[in-house]
Amino acid sequence: MEKHDVIVVGAGISGLSTAYHLKQHNRDLDMLIVDKAQGYGQGNTGRSAAGFRDMFSSRINHLLSSSTISFYKYIQEEMHHELGMKFVGYLFLAANNERGRTLESNIKNIPGTRRIEKDELRKSLSIADLDQESAEMLSLDPAEFGIFGGNCGIVEPDLICDFYYNALMEMDVNFSFGTSVQKLSLDPVKKLDFPGEPFLWQEKFIGPLETTSGQISADKYVIATDTWANYLLDPVGIDSHQRPKKRQIFQISGPSVEKLLFTDSFSRYGILPFTILPSHGIYLRPALKERSLWIGVSDDIGRDFSFVEDPEAEQDFYESGVYPVLSAYFPQLKDSKVTSKWAGYYSYNTIDKNPYIFKTMNAIVVTGTSGSGILKGDAIGRVTAALTEGKDVALLYSGDKININDLGVTGRNVDTEHIIL
Ligand SMILES: Cc1cc2nc3c(=O)[nH]c(=O)nc-3n(C[C@H](O)[C@H](O)[C@H](O)COP(=O)(O)OP(=O)(O)OC[C@H]3O[C@@H](n4cnc5c(N)ncnc54)[C@H](O)[C@@H]3O)c2cc1C
Repeated sequence: MEKHDVIVVGAGISGLSTAYHLKQHNRDLDMLIVDKAQGYGQGNTGRSAAGFRDMFSSRINHLLSSSTISFYKYIQEEMHHELGMKFVGYLFLAANNERGRTLESNIKNIPGTRRIEKDELRKSLSIADLDQESAEMLSLDPAEFGIFGGNCGIVEPDLICDFYYNALMEMDVNFSFGTSVQKLSLDPVKKLDFPGEPFLWQEKFIGPLETTSGQISADKYVIATDTWANYLLDPVGIDSHQRPKKRQIFQISGPSVEKLLFTDSFSRYGILPFTILPSHGIYLRPALKERSLWIGVSDDIGRDFSFVEDPEAEQDFYESGVYPVLSAYFPQLKDSKVTSKWAGYYSYNTIDKNPYIFKTMNAIVVTGTSGSGILKGDAIGRVTAALTEGKDVALLYSGDKININDLGVTGRNVDTEHIIL
């Protein structure tokens, strides 16, 4: 049976970044990365809206995101590895009501953030005054001001994954794609060779993994399987502390979409920022290559926690739920057409919405990225690698330090995140 120092299960952004930092620290480490897909970045990493922001209310989320943004910027600007990173900004639209004021107070002190008044919004965004009747029927808050974050924008996750993958290949890390881990097994630390081991009273560890390509084993396992974590962890009694929440993106195109997309008042790229509407968690993500907008939505109540392997975006949901809201704010989008759509899952930490990174026996688990695993990907990898190495503190690219226990289960110490998209 193959035996390694570390096996990383999952070659999404979390697994790749963890593996990269482990190998950077120890070039002699014998590591294998397995993924059930035929390549890397094919899970939720490949289905995201690919926005990045440091506008979080939780201190740790802010540290993880701002450090990751700086690292990606370094890769693109200093290492000249293109990541498609564009600082087009994030624009939160809000009303002068309690919800708007709470949002503002959560993010206004983040460096690079500024308030945009209604007049300026009108000019730059040609956003409509809401029709009273539709506003009431659709429960819409008016867009009375905006909070613009300049250290935010869009990126191409496949290019980030290329960066980590190529670096890992150069460091002689082995990958096994098309290999699905079927089961984690528990073994006794002190084997007695009695049938039925391990017994209740025996100390246990994760033994060889059953995979579709046979058994493989390692001293330590990093479980970076995102929403799939429950399939591996539930049977051995480890709680993943996350639940799957379906998320959908609808790409819309047409002349009015292009007009809105090429809005030049916000950044040097001359395109619309990643814009979040005041109501119902709907956002518009500029997609320059496709001359389109991606419309995403983070719906909550009414969206169940079921999981299917290949979720599909629901046209009905767009037409009856999303589009009426979108067109109330931007009536000019009436001529737009859905030209593509897809869906994936958030690995959703429903309690505090910060990631979970914890160790149980010889398994290190990373879950609960809650819709922001790409923009925190590098820092999450650094923390997970540090925990795998047995450290208590992780050093981020920014120079900030994270007490790893703060993101764990016992001893968890994070603020609740209020800004989830
Ligand atoms: C619609 C949508 C929009 C999003 N928008 C954003 C955004 O704008 N910004 C942002 O930062 N984040 C966003 N996210 C969240 C982001 O995509 C995730 O947080 C991130 O991709 C998680 O990365 P991961 O590596 O943990 O998981 P994944 O990329 O899902 O990787 C897990 C891997 O594990 C593999 N795997 C699972 N089970 C097994 C098994 N048993 N054996 C072997 N391999 C296995 C899978 O094949 C997969 O490749 C969005 C997500 C969705 C769905």
